[in-house]
Amino acid sequence: MRLVTYGERGEERLGALVDGGRYVLDLNIASHGSIPPDPIAFLDGDYWDLARKVISQPAADVEPAALIEADSVRRGAPIPEPRTIIALGLNYRDHAEEGGQPVPPNPLLFAKAPAATIGPYDDIVYPPQVTQLDYEAELAIVIGKRAKNLTPEQAWNVIAGYTVINDVSARDIQFSESQWFRAKSFDTFAPMGPCLVTPDEIGDPQNLRIWCDVNGERLQNSTTANMIFKIPEIVAFISQVFALRPGDVIATGTPAGVGVFRKPPRLLQVGDIVETGIEKIGILRNQVIAP
Ligand code: MG
Repeated sequence: MRLVTYGERGEERLGALVDGGRYVLDLNIASHGSIPPDPIAFLDGDYWDLARKVISQPAADVEPAALIEADSVRRGAPIPEPRTIIALGLNYRDHAEEGGQPVPPNPLLFAKAPAATIGPYDDIVYPPQVTQLDYEAELAIVIGKRAKNLTPEQAWNVIAGYTVINDVSARDIQFSESQWFRAKSFDTFAPMGPCLVTPDEIGDPQNLRIWCDVNGERLQNSTTANMIFKIPEIVAFISQVFALRPGDVIATGTPAGVGVFRKPPRLLQVGDIVETGIEKIGILRNQVIAP
């Protein structure tokens, strides 16, 4: 299943991509109101079985108002307002090396403000107080169940699915402060989507191509196989710290090739088109605009 949201910012409604992605099926309308339109309420209430039933019903039985052409509407992040965004620093060996940083002994956790989340095709706003804007292609885990003190084996059971996140970063601020929260949390610094793909459609999440293109030039090109800490270890480790909740998002770190460490540096400029992709999930396409 490929879950999406659509609609204006703050009013996004849950849908599923159908017909090869041509249409969004509004799950609330298609279920005659049984499935809530809010994705976190969907996860909280565990509506998966009903959603599968609604998606698989014959086309002739679908309420016409429930089918929306995917290209005709604004698309939101699959979780437009995550409860928490936890991110990992230095989780790809080549990225730690390009920055001259030692590989951390444990997953290095930091937070991004959930309000920084934007849709897969929304604009990234270049903040006036930032001088070094950068991209980071990352696989994001979406949590689907409440969970505490998991083992790595148990961690798979609480993952609702996977999506793409661009961990947009203000390097000048990141490198001048010991806490990364401000540098990572400006409005629009978390483009996410284009859909939440359930684990059954992903296969092995540690074997996915991941890339970032700026104006068509490939600047990051790796595979999730290169993560230092793997998905079940990451989820279990975080659950030892705080109870995970449906709608929490975990950004699993970025591979080498970020702009600030390229020679010469390739930082983002107003007008750039940033395309962040992961195999089997899709591509974010965001333009950098002036404030
Ligand atoms: Mg990152």
